Amino acid sequence: QLYNQVQDLKGTIRVYCRVRPFLRGQSNGQSTVDYIGENGNIMIVNPLKNGKEARKVFSFNKVFGTNVTQDQIYADTQPLVRSVLDGYNVCIFAYGQTGSGKTYTMSGPDLTSEQTWGVNYRALRDLFQISTTRGDVIRYEVGVQMVEIYNEQVRDLLVIDFTSTIHTLDIRNNSQLNGLNVPDASWIPVSSTQDVLDLMKIGQRNRAVGATALNERSSRSHSVLTVHVYGKELVSGSILKGCLHMVDLAGSERVDKSEAVGERLKEAQHINRSLSALGDVISALAQKSPHVPYRNSKLTQVLQDSLGGHAKTLMFVHINPELNSIGETISTLKFAERVA
Ligand code: ADP
Ligand code: MG
Repeated sequence: QLYNQVQDLKGTIRVYCRVRPFLRGQSNGQSTVDYIGENGNIMIVNPLKNGKEARKVFSFNKVFGTNVTQDQIYADTQPLVRSVLDGYNVCIFAYGQTGSGKTYTMSGPDLTSEQTWGVNYRALRDLFQISTTRGDVIRYEVGVQMVEIYNEQVRDLLVIDFTSTIHTLDIRNNSQLNGLNVPDASWIPVSSTQDVLDLMKIGQRNRAVGATALNERSSRSHSVLTVHVYGKELVSGSILKGCLHMVDLAGSERVDKSEAVGERLKEAQHINRSLSALGDVISALAQKSPHVPYRNSKLTQVLQDSLGGHAKTLMFVHINPELNSIGETISTLKFAERVA
């Protein structure tokens, strides 16, 4: 209860918008972000061909501007992460077009500097720290899984020999195996941030192996890092289970139908379908609809137990301020508004 500071936040679904800065070497052109308000508003400006401008305001729980640090991002994520130790299930998503900063938010630009670590390392460090301080009351065990969903196939990223284990994994909802929805994916106990860093390196290497010359695979697949927490109360012996999914989604950009053929077209169709299935599930939950369409994608099936019910959802939507991304920026913000 001590760490469950989330009740004061309204609802169980929240949406944060993050704007990445112009990158070095990129012309510091006109930004499509007109202003960011204190109250979660962002105004987008779209210069029209006739010399006029179209402006539109979008509203979210929070909007983070280009100068917001990884520290500040995590400060607003921490209550959710900590509620996992009280037995909640939590999903954190990174949504946006390729290059908008999804991996930056979730993992960071590289692992060498703790200062730029993303949400997933900070979350695990936090979970370890708190579980240690509570150690005389509750004994916690923490384990992680990491899978990739590519073309509607689920693959284990924590295997040593990724190329020779191409089989796809089954999803079993309500499985008896401690509630793991992908019971055949490697489940690795971890007890320190270093353990996690080592595993992440394996996962990232495996994702890179799957890349072909044609496409950078990491932007065409969803990666799901799942942290399972089991706590045993020492006095009463009662058990609590919590689960944290951190999802770096495939790039949301629309692929030009005239250009995409073969594999590329198939990938694009799978991505579009699974992202809209995710949007459908979250907006059904937001509207408290009696029917939630989990079955329409592998992604929503894997996360089913952690979307809805008492679970908590946080969606980071990412935009970049470049003028030539205005179309994707607007469709990203529209997607986000639908689930908010
Ligand atoms: P995505 O995962 O959405 O494709 P990345 O996270 O790889 O995008 O970001 C694209 C580039 O922008 C990377 O070089 C990354 O380091 C940089 N970047 C993204 N967000 C930020 C930010 N908030 N501050 C500084 N650089 C950023
Ligand atoms: Mg990425």
